[in-house]
Amino acid sequence: MEPQIAEQEITMPIVFEAEDPLAKYREQVAAEKELKPCVMSDKAAERLKQINYEDKVAKQSEEKFAYALTQISPTPENLAKLITRCSDDPKNSRRLVKLLFWIQSRGWRLGHEIRLPSDIALLSELTAEEIEMSDSVFAAKWRVKKMVAPISDEPEVRLCALGRRCLRAVKGKAAPVTGKAEYCSVNCRGRAKILARKASTGQMAA
Ligand SMILES: [Zn+2]
Repeated sequence: MEPQIAEQEITMPIVFEAEDPLAKYREQVAAEKELKPCVMSDKAAERLKQINYEDKVAKQSEEKFAYALTQISPTPENLAKLITRCSDDPKNSRRLVKLLFWIQSRGWRLGHEIRLPSDIALLSELTAEEIEMSDSVFAAKWRVKKMVAPISDEPEVRLCALGRRCLRAVKGKAAPVTGKAEYCSVNCRGRAKILARKASTGQMAA
């Protein structure tokens, strides 16, 4: 029996009491796992891909809708049709009054500031109070006090600070400046200095 015992002893796992030299790395790995607790499963990854795809499709149809809106002139008739398509209580003519208000008094454009079916529904949405109020009160609340031109994407054109005294003025209208310049040309800048000097010495400005 003795040899068997000896064999068992040899195959016994050897346990080191010594410190684990990899301990600090193991800790780091554990900490890392703590930070990213959800390693994505294949199923979740697949779902995410699907969501991204759906987002892309939704985005494309939004773009299409917005583009179609740019082709529509914002007449009351057209807006009424849009409200019919985009809202859940299209019969209410007060919705049209509200939508017209934003377009006419803010200059918001179809297909630009107003892009989505939900924009049309939201901008024309009536509060409970608005549904209840009398026609005259509602009309007064949403009356367009001042018509505003549609918002423009063109950068604002700045004119020479000399105004009608600009040397390149045409019919009293100063020439445009480039960039952040104050005057349209070196000549106008010089003239501005001369005019300022004349003004400060009490002479009549040219
Ligand atoms: Zn000028």
